[in-house]
Amino acid sequence: MNPKTSLIRPFGLQFDLAEGVMHDPADHVVRKASDMRGYYADEAALEQLISSANDPVHYETFDSPVPEEYGQVKFCISKLYPGVVGEECFMTKGHYHAVLETGELYLCLKGQGLLLLKLSDGTSTWEQFVPGRMVYVPPYWAHRSVNVGDEPLISLCIYPGDAGHNYRDIKSNGFPNRVFRRNGLIVVEKSGKRNAL
Ligand code: ZN
Repeated sequence: MNPKTSLIRPFGLQFDLAEGVMHDPADHVVRKASDMRGYYADEAALEQLISSANDPVHYETFDSPVPEEYGQVKFCISKLYPGVVGEECFMTKGHYHAVLETGELYLCLKGQGLLLLKLSDGTSTWEQFVPGRMVYVPPYWAHRSVNVGDEPLISLCIYPGDAGHNYRDIKSNGFPNRVFRRNGLIVVEKSGKRNAL
């Protein structure tokens, strides 16, 4: 056996797909609005949200009980709540994988959203999330979910066990695209350019 890869027992586990919950997760991460300082264009609106709504939950992830090792397959449920900061739609922090040459699958289970994607040379694009749509994130692409609907955006993520997460670059450089809700329309802005969906 490869010493980098543990031998573990097969198992099954239960999801509540309607609620976006994985039962008995190995880890349950809750990101509140105050964890999102530095990510939104309108920082004052974020502070207003934190103080007026008692620092609401922004998104939750439920992580699989699988070792973070080469050869294993990790999976998680991501549940991103609906809302806006100023006019900018709620989003996750986003990340590169620590092992850059690892991809990921996102299967949208509920809600409406976008997956923003970018490369380190500034190339960027996005893919649409609707229930039943799977988005393939190839190796090297950073990715961030955005909720453009009125209900939680729930997706199942599947990725190599050794992929890891790198949030540092996103914290300092962000994504080229931002997603806004203006007068009921969803607008993606890139470096001053605007595209209505
Ligand atoms: Zn990822």
